[in-house]
Amino acid sequence: MKVAVLGAGISGLAAAWRLDNLGHDVTVLESSSTTGGMIKTDQQGKYLLEAGPHAIMPNYKALLNALPDLGLMDSYIEAGANGRNRFICLDGRPEPIPMGPISFLRTPLLSFGAKLRVLKEPFIAPLQADESVAAFFTRRMGPEVVTRLIDPFISGVYAGDPDRLSIASAFPIFKGFEREGGSIIKGALKRMRTARKHADPGQPKERRRRNMYSFKRGLQEIPQALARRLGDRIRLHTAVEELKAIGDNWSVNGESFDAVISTIPTHTWAGINGHLYPHSGLEYASVTTVHLAYPKSAVKARTDGFGMLIPAVEQRRILGILFDSSLFPNRAPEDQQLFTIFMGGLRNTWTVAKPVAELLQIAHREVADLMKVEGIDAPLFSHGHRWTHAIPQYDFNHPAAEQRLNKFENAHKNFVFAGNYRKGISVGHCFESGLEAAQRLIANTDS
Ligand SMILES: Cc1cc2nc3c(=O)[nH]c(=O)nc-3n(C[C@H](O)[C@H](O)[C@H](O)COP(=O)(O)OP(=O)(O)OC[C@H]3O[C@@H](n4cnc5c(N)ncnc54)[C@H](O)[C@@H]3O)c2cc1C
Repeated sequence: MKVAVLGAGISGLAAAWRLDNLGHDVTVLESSSTTGGMIKTDQQGKYLLEAGPHAIMPNYKALLNALPDLGLMDSYIEAGANGRNRFICLDGRPEPIPMGPISFLRTPLLSFGAKLRVLKEPFIAPLQADESVAAFFTRRMGPEVVTRLIDPFISGVYAGDPDRLSIASAFPIFKGFEREGGSIIKGALKRMRTARKHADPGQPKERRRRNMYSFKRGLQEIPQALARRLGDRIRLHTAVEELKAIGDNWSVNGESFDAVISTIPTHTWAGINGHLYPHSGLEYASVTTVHLAYPKSAVKARTDGFGMLIPAVEQRRILGILFDSSLFPNRAPEDQQLFTIFMGGLRNTWTVAKPVAELLQIAHREVADLMKVEGIDAPLFSHGHRWTHAIPQYDFNHPAAEQRLNKFENAHKNFVFAGNYRKGISVGHCFESGLEAAQRLIANTDS
């Protein structure tokens, strides 16, 4: 089968790799000069910068299991113990997120009353209907949990607004816990018990808990490894400009294909001639990633962690800070601390109109204050990257968009959608989305 895969981000590369392995004739069309899409590692002198994703969570088994086949195990690096420490900004300082019952009882992030309210969660009646992420957690755990914990978490994942994201679309796992167990806590425990019961006794148990991971030369190593396998089946600098149905086939930029897997972002669809794409109606958050480096000796706040998320109530101009050089080696000179700062998102659209140079200044002022940078007026290194359409929002429009895509796919058995707007935004989700799209296409066209 001759298949066009549109877009060479992680979703498109995964789909093309699977089809290629199964002997199909694949062509990947990518508008930019490189593969990887939002996975964008940039080596600038001694600094290894990630403009997009920084690390991958180990719970995406398809990607983890593909790493040996992609020849990436020699380069694989897991975050050390620091990776498990996460901070939330409280009154302008990093405060560890409680990870166990004792630290939960002791944390100053929540008042005594808010902690009692969380303990009532198993006794709150479940609700069938979808609701916003903020409404769901307020109902189940109380408003302070939302202001102090959920709000910064949403900024960190979606750069979004907890009042606008749908719990069923953005975090189906929590809605699932409530549905299956009557509460988040009971549902999570129930699922753990079921997983234990159904664990294959013949399978050796993973001896240690994996941490999030990256690679010696950054996350770019994944798309680079996939691109090496696909070779000249990837056409760079080739924007899809026209897409048409011709009988049972598809014409992409005038070339005929038996089937198409489209992984290009939904906000680009309207610009493609042929008027073929359905309306997605999805909104994207814009994000600017800023990198700043300081002498380690000048940074007086705690940096032994993954990073710090900042709740809106703190009234800061940044969403969060990652402590790059505390997480993986060789991100900056040994005696320097490299930070990545996220700015923008749905609630800070003012950043879109500001030149990146100005955002670097604002980020520096915020980091100097929050991370207690002393004795130095300017960072040793600074760099910024703006993503105008960074993250699709799984809001109340998402279910209708998904229905339109399903309807389109049902009407066109040789056209499949994949990408970060479908089943989740993480790199692991996107990789799975690409593999699944390839399987679905094969199943559809075989039947
Ligand atoms: C700042 C930031 C931080 C993130 N952090 C993390 C993280 O730490 N961990 C994590 O797991 N995830 C993270 N994510 C999310 C994750 O990186 C993305 O959701 C994922 O990489 C998207 O992959 P994709 O292939 O679906 O889309 P994309 O990467 O957007 O790929 C789509 C491709 O299509 C191409 N394209 C567009 N239009 C056309 C056209 N007309 N013709 C041909 N090609 C076209 C684009 O150039 C692009 O290469 C982050 C995202 C951002 C923006």
